[in-house]
This record gives sequence, structure tokens and C-alpha cells, in this order.
Amino acid sequence: MRSPTSLAVAVVLLAGAWALPHVRHVFIEDVTTWDAEPSPPPSLPAGTGAGLAPAPRVRAILIDGLSADSARTLPTWSALCKRGVTLTVDVGFPTISLPVEAALWSGLTQQQTGIVFRSDRPLQPPLVGVPSHVPGSHVVAENHAYIARSLGFATAEGDESKEWAAVWQQHAHDAVASDARLVFVHVLRVDTAGHRHGHDSAEYRQSAGEADAILATLVDAAPDARWFLLSDHGHRGPGGHGGEERDVRQVEHCIFGPGVAPGGGGPVHVVDMARALADSLGVMLDARSLARPLGAAIAAPLSADQAVPATALGPGVAALFVLVLGGVVTGFGVRRWWLAPWWFVLACASLVIVRGFPTLSTPMVYSPAGRAMYVTWLPALVLAGATAYAGLSRVGLWRVLASQLALPIAAMCAAFTVTRAWMPLFGAYEAPVVPRFTAWTSPLILLAAHGMTAVALAVLGTYARSAFGRPSRPEPPRSDPATG
Ligand SMILES: [Zn+2]
Repeated sequence: MRSPTSLAVAVVLLAGAWALPHVRHVFIEDVTTWDAEPSPPPSLPAGTGAGLAPAPRVRAILIDGLSADSARTLPTWSALCKRGVTLTVDVGFPTISLPVEAALWSGLTQQQTGIVFRSDRPLQPPLVGVPSHVPGSHVVAENHAYIARSLGFATAEGDESKEWAAVWQQHAHDAVASDARLVFVHVLRVDTAGHRHGHDSAEYRQSAGEADAILATLVDAAPDARWFLLSDHGHRGPGGHGGEERDVRQVEHCIFGPGVAPGGGGPVHVVDMARALADSLGVMLDARSLARPLGAAIAAPLSADQAVPATALGPGVAALFVLVLGGVVTGFGVRRWWLAPWWFVLACASLVIVRGFPTLSTPMVYSPAGRAMYVTWLPALVLAGATAYAGLSRVGLWRVLASQLALPIAAMCAAFTVTRAWMPLFGAYEAPVVPRFTAWTSPLILLAAHGMTAVALAVLGTYARSAFGRPSRPEPPRSDPATG
């Protein structure tokens, strides 16, 4: 074992282990910053039914981060919903405010617009959609005003200052009471409470109650308007959104006021709500929109997960090929049952058991250090090191590398492939955002790095033992120390 080869391999493994967390950082940056290549939307079931007739004044209030189950507990919200149409609305994927609200106001899904995250990055130029076709359209945002300013309203109010926080409700009230054809109010406090304290917290319920009180005063200011009560996503129990979880994706919307008969149903798609807004305002959606008239959408609800985009065939098949290749190389290395990459299986299981499935709603996926994830698999790394150490003297270096690392590295490469992350990792400005796999990529990168570290330490341990344990014994000539 005391060979330059094993020393070189250890150095290469440690270099890889050092580099991969940086790769993960670039990956997360790509996810949260750029737009995706536009792709076709999921098809929606065909139904027949009429759309809404135009209304003279349309008012929309969106309570950011309000879950369907929370909305149903709010007294004002629920009472108003009973006067009109109550809908379960699937906002599609990902469940991030700006992408969802872009879909709500354009009638194009996140996949069609390519707007999938854009954390803190306004759309410039703003969206071309319903508000941009309505003269005098106005939006008032409690904060996070970059979202409101991205949506194409004629005028927008809102900033992040304390001064604005003190007066924004009055501004919202005045705007709603005005003659403007379309006014939109974006309430942010529920989402903020969800991130800080989680959906299952008293703080979240309190914020939802405050938002409900704001809703009451706003509706009082324009009781004769057609009202849209909206939400853009829910929150996980411990807080967080962005992923494909049904609780986060499916929210409650209501429409009431002149020309809206009581009723309800769903799930309908968030683009169907764009159509309801467009019809109420007498404007057309983008010709590429698959949105359906309200009656047709209610007549033909989506199946439970129909709004989740499917995995693209090409990248999916290529990723599968990479995984099979990893399996073949692993098979070359696994000469005894205990040499299988059990540590990797154990690490994935530990992560899921302790933290749950990683999704774009789980903060651990984004956290720079990833500590929340790797504390769960530390025992698995001990197993990786011990297996590699025992294997080195029995089957040699190359079989140990193949058995312990081929599968984790292949899994990481397959994740890069299915999410189309290769080009962005090398500098392309594209967001590798797909359901499920984007979230798994984050832990898979760290797992590969940590597995490399464990195996490298085992190689160095073997090297040190041979160096110090038998210092005077020369290496036999012509034998291959790596495999023999
Ligand atoms: Zn949020």
C-alpha cells in the first residue's frame, strides 16, 4: 500500500472533496438566480363552460404564503368565499412567489415563461400580461416590492422601509377605493411568518389573522367590485416553500362580486385564474396560454399532481444511462458483499429519516454549509472509511474506489444530467430547476464529496500503517502495490 499511486489517489480524492462544495454553491446560485430554458406546459383537461363576463372594477388581494388549510380558518376570507366561487388552485412548480405570480398574471406556466426562481431579481422589462393591457392598473405591495414591479402594472407602490410599513395599508385602502379598473394588493406578512416560525406556529396563525383583518377593511372600501382572493403557495409545517409538495402547491382562491354565482371546485390551474382575471377585464391572454374559461376549468378539474411538469425524456434517459454505468463500475469493485456501497444507502436513508425528503421547500437544500444534511449521515461516513480500510488490504485500491465511490459519483452526475445542470455549472446563465431532482442534487454533491474524504482517509491510513509499521521492508519488485 505504500506506493506513490495510493498517495496520488488520496490527493486527487481530497482535491475533489474540497472542490465539490464549491460546485454545490455554483449549482444553488444557478437555481436561485437565472431563468430556465422555456419548455412546454403540462396539458390541461378539456372541458366546456363559459368564462366570466367583464366587470367594471376588479380588485385582487394576494396573501403570500397562505396555505389552503389556514385560509379556511379565516372568518372574513371564508365568509366572503361563500358569496362566490371557491376554488382549489394548483400553482404548478416551482412554488416561488415571483414565478407563480408571473403565471397568475400572464396565463403562462413557469415552464413556459422560464421564470422559475429569480430570487430578488425583478423582471426587466416587466411581464407582458393582464395588468399591462389594463390602462391605469395599480399594485400596492406591503414589501418585497420587486415582485409587484415585475408584473407589468401601470403604476406600483411599495418598498422595504419602516416609513412605508406604517402607511401602506392606508395606500392600499385608497387604491382599492379608487376608480381604477384593476387594483392588486400584495400582502407579505404571512409568508414572512412562515419562513421565520413555520406554518405550524402561533406566529403564522396570527399573521394570517392580521391579513384577514386587512382583507376586511379593503373589501369594505370597494364592496361593489369583483374581488379575487388569492394565494401563491402554502408553507411546509416547519416553514419553507418552493417544492412540489401538494400542500404547498394547492391553495385556495375565491372570486365574488357582481356576475359571480356561488359555486366552486378544482383543482384548477393557476393559469385558469389568469383567464378569469383577463375575462373580468376584457383583455386577451398570450396565445400560447392553455388557460380555460372558468366554467370549463371547474367542469374538468386537474388530477392531483397533473400540474407538476414531467421529467424531460432526453435528460431522463441520459441520467439513467449514467446510473447504469455507475452500477456496472460498482459491480467490478464489489468482490465481497460487505464491499457494496452500504454507506451511501445508509446516508441517503439517514437523511430522509431524520430530515425528510429534500425538496425545494426545505431550507437545508440551499444552506451554504449544508450542515443540517450532513450531520444526519456522519455515521455512514464512518462506515465508508472502515469498509474502504478493510477492503484495501483484501481487494486493492481500484476495486475499493469502484465499490465505494462509483455509485455516489454516478448519482451526482445523473442528477446534473436530469436537471440539465452541466452547462450552467460551466457558466451558462440557466436555472437547472425541475421537480424532485434539483433538490436531491444538493445532498448528492455533498455525499460524493464526503465519501471521497472517507475513502481518502482510509487510503492514507493504510499508507501510514505500512510506512510506520514496517519501515525497513522494501517493496517487492514488479508487484503492483495498488491491486496486490
Ligand atoms: Zn416565501
